[in-house]
Amino acid sequence: MRYGSLSDRLTLFQADRALDVERHSSGAFSSDPQAVYDCWEEFMAWARTVDFAAAEPYDNYQLCAPVPCPRQLLAVGLNYVHPTYDPQTPASALPVFTKFVSSITGPYADVPHPGGHSDWEVELVVVIGRGGHRISRDDAWSHVAGLTACQDLSERILQKAGTLPQFNLGKSYAGFLPMGPWVVTPDELDNPDDLFVETRVNGQAYQSARTSDMIMSVPALIEYLSKVVTLLPGDIILTGTPVGVGEHQTPEVFLEVGDVIDTTIEGIGQMRNTMIEQKD
Ligand code: ZN
Repeated sequence: MRYGSLSDRLTLFQADRALDVERHSSGAFSSDPQAVYDCWEEFMAWARTVDFAAAEPYDNYQLCAPVPCPRQLLAVGLNYVHPTYDPQTPASALPVFTKFVSSITGPYADVPHPGGHSDWEVELVVVIGRGGHRISRDDAWSHVAGLTACQDLSERILQKAGTLPQFNLGKSYAGFLPMGPWVVTPDELDNPDDLFVETRVNGQAYQSARTSDMIMSVPALIEYLSKVVTLLPGDIILTGTPVGVGEHQTPEVFLEVGDVIDTTIEGIGQMRNTMIEQKD
């Protein structure tokens, strides 16, 4: 099952066609893409019976962020081995931060360039369907609604400014979290723990990795985070980015106005975001 947001309305997707949930369910389900987690089990049961005969073609540029307003957004760093990775750092101490939800934007949205050293980070996103506290890794996938893709765009100067780093601010400029193109339920994927992820900027591949290279897998991350945080339906977890970000290129490469970022995750789909001039 693939579901997401088309023109800010909850939508099911199959092949190149889209089906509006509120209209097709005669109002049984809200058009609000974030409200579906209040009735997740009922929605899945209904969605699996849907006849796509009435589904219609759509334009990629109508796609919006599939999870537009999670109550909690948890992100981890250093979840793949990369040049600054300290092997002495125990995997139990992955740094956790957030991006404020107003940074969320669509999978084909233009992103205003805030200046500074703006950088890309492709990440697999976990969407929580059934909440919970102290979830064991063995039970973790049953709490997952699905997976989607994102770019954890980051302005590196602000991210590292001050006595303590400013991850939350440096990663929360408007548009700094393109997400999509939709959520794919885990049963659609041959192996949801092993997906190819890629970032291309202006056609050049900078990040190419597999999620099986993550230091903490999706189930391990859910166990780690939910030891502390009670995960709520509709929350999202950004699982970290692999090697190949701009700040680790030699010489460094950062995003400029006009740059086109293509993001791919195997089995999920693609996004295309363009950096544009910020208006006052
Ligand atoms: Zn990140």
